[in-house]
Amino acid sequence: MTGNHCAFNFYFALIWGAVDLAVPGIVVLLYLSVRRIVDNPDGVWADPWDVAILLAAAAALLFYTVVMRRHTPRVLVRAGVWPGWCRPDDRYPTTVEELEEAIKELHAKNPEQPPTIVGAGWGFFLQRKGPTGARVFTHKCGGLEDDAWRPGTTIASIAKHYKKQNLSLISHPTMDYISAGAWFANGNHGNGGSSKEAVNKILKTAKVLRLKGANFEKKDVTAEELLEYVYEDRRYPDRNTRTYVLSITLDATSGFVPYGRWLQKRGVEVRGFSNDADAKEKTGCLESLQATSHWLSDGAHLRVMFFGAARNYGFGLVWTDVYNEAETHIDPHFGSTFGQYVQTDNCSAVGGCREPLRCFRGKIKWGDANHWMPQLYPIETVAALVLGYINFETIVELPNPLNAAELCRVAGLMIEIHKKVGGRSELRQNARPGSRVIYLDWAIRSGMYEEVFKFLKSKLQVANNRVALHMGKHQHSAEDIQKWSKLTLVGMHEILARDA
Ligand SMILES: Cc1cc2nc3c(=O)[nH]c(=O)nc-3n(C[C@H](O)[C@H](O)[C@H](O)COP(=O)(O)OP(=O)(O)OC[C@H]3O[C@@H](n4cnc5c(N)ncnc54)[C@H](O)[C@@H]3O)c2cc1C
Repeated sequence: MTGNHCAFNFYFALIWGAVDLAVPGIVVLLYLSVRRIVDNPDGVWADPWDVAILLAAAAALLFYTVVMRRHTPRVLVRAGVWPGWCRPDDRYPTTVEELEEAIKELHAKNPEQPPTIVGAGWGFFLQRKGPTGARVFTHKCGGLEDDAWRPGTTIASIAKHYKKQNLSLISHPTMDYISAGAWFANGNHGNGGSSKEAVNKILKTAKVLRLKGANFEKKDVTAEELLEYVYEDRRYPDRNTRTYVLSITLDATSGFVPYGRWLQKRGVEVRGFSNDADAKEKTGCLESLQATSHWLSDGAHLRVMFFGAARNYGFGLVWTDVYNEAETHIDPHFGSTFGQYVQTDNCSAVGGCREPLRCFRGKIKWGDANHWMPQLYPIETVAALVLGYINFETIVELPNPLNAAELCRVAGLMIEIHKKVGGRSELRQNARPGSRVIYLDWAIRSGMYEEVFKFLKSKLQVANNRVALHMGKHQHSAEDIQKWSKLTLVGMHEILARDA
């Protein structure tokens, strides 16, 4: 952990932790005020100044906690830059034209340090460091301009817009309070599966402003080209290139399904694979093979699988077309999104509790199934930070296509590695059956990075000794990865190209 990371942690815990602590603080202050008034000897009123000070303090805390929960302060705190007063080089454009002007103007002022865009700030939080150079905030640059979405529009707003037309994106990143610009600039993805709808294209084109040396060019690029540009910008800073997403256009023909199309969930357990017949029985591998076939089926519209230190199996969820018309369990219902998230994600790392598999069978509309994350409260981000959990994602190509046997092999190894490194991970694969490329999203403590990369190389035996990192999460340097594991860091576009 670097000095920058420590400073970010301290800042975030202090500012955002105070937003949490304000609530019990208000309760205590109100209680003390009431005590001052009621518990007065001789029936004399309390000193009004005493009570006034307590009430003023409670009001100040209430003001702080309410104001800080608005969108702008949240973005600024996540990016580690709140309150950001007295920064003449901060820009808050509201249109694409203003955004372009702001980038060019700030670059002209300081060509050595091109400006950095801050979308919704989640990527900075995950990297535990703020933006460098002048800052262009896009969270006020949202909404549609002609047919294109401005880059600061949140996924939640986009989803809401299409819901009114009974349309849903085929999938989107599970955190829907991220900006459209960062979604595609960083190659974010959701729980997409392997059905013919699920593997369709979502982004039609991104309009980018690309800085190359001293010049800017504006062009329309595909998702793959955008990933390549952004990767190169970061990997080779000496080339002095930067890519700014000005707007995005979604593919109206392939990127959407009817919002109200019914899907049905299934929960599966996948255990390790063993060649020994007895061990197969013991590890549940026979059942696992059956479970994997559900998870891997070409009817899987959405799917995700969790592993973690608290479980000796992979816990997968998969949404297919309805397989039991008579099912009366309808999601989401009160607390179901939160319950599902906690059981799959948090409880994979700690406790391991969950409902029986048979409970994971609810019918749900496609658009609702995309909405995976419950509301995140300040206490959750502060707790993750204080406990030292870091989130990074590796994209790798397996030595074999991800069929039932390969998934059992991967599951067995993932169960093993979590016993060593703790934490939890998510396995996702959004591709037609037969693909070798998988996403492994890790939340572990920082001392364990090396073990994970060694594991990818020697146990998982990733193809071509290559690994890519999700660019919107915590980053490891190519040198560290090479030193730890002899794996070569490549761009996500290079690994995904193998799958195309
Ligand atoms: C709880 C949680 C759940 C998550 N779930 C998922 C998931 O399911 N799938 C997934 O893929 N990711 C997931 N993420 C990661 C998250 O989606 C990424 O970090 C995302 O990139 C953050 O978007 P943002 O708008 O907050 O970007 P920011 O943090 O503001 O920016 C991140 C990076 O993108 C750059 N950037 C922002 N806007 C632009 C633009 N217009 N043009 C060029 N560059 C830009 C910034 O300069 C910065 O380098 C999750 C994160 C959290 C915290």
